[in-house]
Amino acid sequence: MKLYKSILSVQTYLKAKRAQNLRIGFVPTMGALHAGHLSLIKIALQKCDIVVCSIFVNPTQFNNSEDLKLYPRPIENDIKLLAQVGCHVLFHPTTDEMYAGGLIKNSAADYGHFIEVLEGAHRPGHFDGVITIVQHLFEIIEPNEVFFGQKDYQQCLVVKMLIKRSFSSLHFNQCPIEREQDGLAMSSRNIRLNATERLAARDLNQALLHIKNNWYVDKWQQAIAEATAIIHQNPLLKLDYLSISDIETLSELSSFKVPAIALIAVNCGNTRLIDNLRLGD
Ligand code: AMP
Repeated sequence: MKLYKSILSVQTYLKAKRAQNLRIGFVPTMGALHAGHLSLIKIALQKCDIVVCSIFVNPTQFNNSEDLKLYPRPIENDIKLLAQVGCHVLFHPTTDEMYAGGLIKNSAADYGHFIEVLEGAHRPGHFDGVITIVQHLFEIIEPNEVFFGQKDYQQCLVVKMLIKRSFSSLHFNQCPIEREQDGLAMSSRNIRLNATERLAARDLNQALLHIKNNWYVDKWQQAIAEATAIIHQNPLLKLDYLSISDIETLSELSSFKVPAIALIAVNCGNTRLIDNLRLGD
């Protein structure tokens, strides 16, 4: 696997590959890689000739400085995992490299209602940072296809909108959520959970499954109330939101609809966890 830290070096390598008509797939990450990230790389390897993974903990998408400080950065292990899975290129720039020349922060303000709710409402400025860095990465790598996880469902909608506006020939792939055996969605933040928190975190998926299993026109409101109670009854969990939304607009449903999506965000101790599940498929 090739490892590049500078924009120029990765661009030079990819330019040569592009000249050979090779198809470039791109998986942006913040590292602390787990099987969820690796599943994206594996899907990309099936569809593209050259797969590039980036690891960059983007400071501008963190609205909480403590969260940024505590974000795990096990780079040596990440390099090993990427090489094992057969990733061709790791782009691992420094913050100075990415923000040199005073990269102007993009605004998500005109993206519409769907960007203002859920993560947008609970993490002010988060999507401004996401759009800024994703756009910059797309311009550097110039991929043919990009691969994002459904785990960050709202982010998928945001990136799809960015692509529609500025990268119309780029193909977007939304990849399924990889889970631990007890249903907890894999996340780089999970390693911050202690043993009791880890046990409690299982209730996120339990709550979502309860809604999915009772998603019927005569039961849906009761199902949401019962799922909310699952979270509230667990003293280690503090609910940020549980929203049942339209799959495109993310508007909260006021009547029964199929398909729909249930999205949840919870603080488990000092760790913020998110998950989602499509309903009615
Ligand atoms: P992150 O490093 O958290 O920014 O995630 C990088 C990419 O991996 C994003 O597209 C995430 O949605 C995706 N991802 C994170 N967790 C999972 C998971 N459990 N299953 C599948 N994809 C994931």
